Order: sequence, then structure tokens, then C-alpha cells
Amino acid sequence: MKNIRLKVLSLLLILSGIASADVPKYVFYFIGDGMGIGQVQALRTYYKNIQDSVSALPHFYETPVSGFITTFSANDDITDSAAAGTALACGAKTRNGMIGMDADTLTLTSIAKKMKAAGRGVAIMSSVCLDDATPAAFYATRPSRHHYYQIARQGAESGFDFMAGAYFRDPYGVRSGTPGNVFAEYEAAGYTIVRGREGYEQAVIDKAQRVLWLDSDTTTENRIGYAIDGDNGDMTLPQMVRSGIDFLYKKYPKGFFMMAEGGAIDHMGHGNDPSGVLRETIEFDAAVREAIEFYKKHPRETLIVITADHETGGMSVGTIDSRHKVNMHYLPYATVSKGQFGEDVRVLLSHRGKDVTWSEVASLMADKLGLGTHIPMTAGEEGHLMMVLQEILDERSKVQETLYASYDELTKEVYKIYSAKLGLGWTTVHHTGSPVPLFVMGAGADSFDNKGWLDNTDIPRIMARLCRLGWH
Ligand SMILES: [Zn+2]
Repeated sequence: MKNIRLKVLSLLLILSGIASADVPKYVFYFIGDGMGIGQVQALRTYYKNIQDSVSALPHFYETPVSGFITTFSANDDITDSAAAGTALACGAKTRNGMIGMDADTLTLTSIAKKMKAAGRGVAIMSSVCLDDATPAAFYATRPSRHHYYQIARQGAESGFDFMAGAYFRDPYGVRSGTPGNVFAEYEAAGYTIVRGREGYEQAVIDKAQRVLWLDSDTTTENRIGYAIDGDNGDMTLPQMVRSGIDFLYKKYPKGFFMMAEGGAIDHMGHGNDPSGVLRETIEFDAAVREAIEFYKKHPRETLIVITADHETGGMSVGTIDSRHKVNMHYLPYATVSKGQFGEDVRVLLSHRGKDVTWSEVASLMADKLGLGTHIPMTAGEEGHLMMVLQEILDERSKVQETLYASYDELTKEVYKIYSAKLGLGWTTVHHTGSPVPLFVMGAGADSFDNKGWLDNTDIPRIMARLCRLGWH
């Protein structure tokens, strides 16, 4: 009899697909905003070419399980970050623009909230604003992603333990027309608020019940500072992950859940900035590495899931002009984002006005991108840019508007040529409906091995099942 019971029990365990050793106590959820197949393959090609070795891979290729997920929303073949974030956080499709609600505006419960309710520590972090769509989908429920003030307030109500990001988009309720102070609400909810890298003092953090960690550089409010624009003392995503692990591991014997978003990959994709995308993806990969280091110490208890909410820019390895040639060795000459390059152009024009010469523009391109020196240009390309400069001086040129930035015609044309030189192509300044990659390692990773594509809504559901959190 005992024997039969044992057999039934082991059969049940096999059927549920989960051996008890596989229950992930520590769950990492990495979301590269706008990080599609093209972005990931560009990074892989970069590592291969720069490090001159086919075995040099981004850290997320260390994962034994990988695949693709579909990203479409309830009302559109091409999702935005709100609907995609909701799918990844709450396991349900919704309409573009909506946060933490299904298409009928019924409130959903995120995987992070389920983890919290089960007694785990929860960390939510992003390299962009904490009330942006992706992080918001894990703690907020609003019919519009643009309700920034109300979203930020719901963050204070969440009781999540470690919240880190660039800033809030409307902390005083000015845009929403309901004046208030979200920081006072976080303090009232037991959060210790720290600002910037210099404000993160271990003694203060150790005493904190909950932490809200925001960047101190308010000149770049909607992000912590782009990685390619250099170290300005800004916070970094790897640092946030490391600090979050430290905080939660000490405090939560029942384990933790951490969502870390590489939010600026999307900004760079919208801007069609190839070196910017690569640099942000490297930064995201470095953040993943922090989790892999943790995994190595707790291999049977740690689950790491790495994916994206959607693809941005229609980025490809290879372009209509580049044939089969990709020139990743040109990338290290880039020292600024497209936004910063545009700013440098603006400063040059405002200082020199109509006296600006082509050689001043040429030395800016050489200095910031290696274009025209390390990266050879044809006389035709140079002539085209001279003509664009003249159009600006004659006040005949247009401005390129994208979601997070606008660029003058010269910057736009310089980056078109620059992308083509690298051999990286773009089809849009918006999102695409292409599937995105999925990488999984650690406890329960096999459950994501579907022998085919998954949907974005599957991810939190599988996590919940593995962690025995139930799902309705
Ligand atoms: Zn986007």
C-alpha cells in the first residue's frame, strides 16, 4: 500500500513537471525594452568580431534554454510597452496603453504581487523612469500608461521592497493636474529614499525597511544617463541588480523576485542609433551577469529569465546597401549617443551661426563617431552631408521626430550613413511586431522549453506555476 502511494506521489510529481528541487527560490526577470532578435544578434556579432573569437558571447547565451515569444497586444499586431509589460507581468493580453488591466479594464494581479503575497522580497528596477510602462505593469493598474502621478503613487502602495530607477515623470502631480508629493507618500509607506550613486550609503540601506533609489542627475530625467555618453556618476543597471540582490538576500529567507528592465535599449532603437543600442544592450548583459554570479552560488534555487517586451526600430544585421558586410570594428569609435551628437551639432551651430564651416562639422563627426577618419566616407556621402548642412544654414531643413527625441536633419543623415557603414539596418522609428528572444537558466528552466514559440503571457504563468503561486 505504502509502495503504491509512493508510486502515485512520484507520478504526480512527474506529471506536474516539477521536482521539488526545482522550485525557484530566487527569481530574476530581465526585460530588455525593445531588444529584438536583431539587437541580440548585433551584440553577438560585435562580441565575435571585437574579441576575435566565435566563443565570445553575450552572457545571456550561457543559458541552456532559449526560444522566441510573440508580443502582439489585444488590439494590435504591434504592441507598445504598456500592453507588453502587462502581458509579461500579469499573463494577460490587453490593449496598447493599458497597465495591469485586461482589455475589459478588469484589474489583473502581477507575478510580483503574487510573489510579495507569498512572503518573498520584491525588487523592481529600470534604467529609465520607475513609472514608465514596463516597471509600472508590475505594481500598478491604470487604464493609461500616461497617468504617471497615479502610477507612481501605486508604487508607494505596493509595499515592494527595493525600487530603483531614473526618476518619476510627474512626482508632484503637475501634469495630471492633481498637485501632491509622491515622495512624501513613499516615506509614509516606510521607504528610505536615496538619490544617486553617492547617496547609496550601505549603513543607511542596512537600516532601511524599504528602499526607493533614484538617480540624482535631473538633467537626464527620463533615464539614468545613456551608457554610451560616459560615466557621469550616474547609477547603472548592474549596480542596481547587485544592490537589490544584497538587500533582498539578507532580508528574505523565503526568497525573492527581481524585475530589472534595460529601458534605454528602446530609446536608442526609436532613435535608430546603432552604437547606442549596442552599448545599452552590453549594459543590460552586464546586469544579467550579476544574476548569473548569484546563480553560481545558488544553482538549484535560482531561476533567471531574460526576454524583451517587443522589438524597436526593425533593426537588422545587414542592410540594403551593405550587402553581406558588417563592420563591428567601427563601433568603438563612437563616444556619444545620437541625442548627444545632435546636441553637439546644436551647440556648434549656435556658437558659429552661418559662419560654420564643413571642416568643423567633419571634425565633429570624426571626433564623436570616427566617421570620415577611421570609417572612410565616399565623396558622394560627404557631398550629401555638405548639402544638408547648407539646407540647415538656409533654414530649409526638417526635423526628425521620434518617441523620445527629435533630431536635426544633419544628425539624422549622419546616422543614416553611419548605420550603413556598420552594416546595421532600420525599417522604422517605432516598434515592430517581430518576435523577441527568450533565454532561461536555472531551477525550472526546462518548463520554458516548449519545443516551439511561447507567447509573452506564458512567461509569468510558468513562473507562478514553478513557484507554486497558483494562477486563476
Ligand atoms: Zn518603445
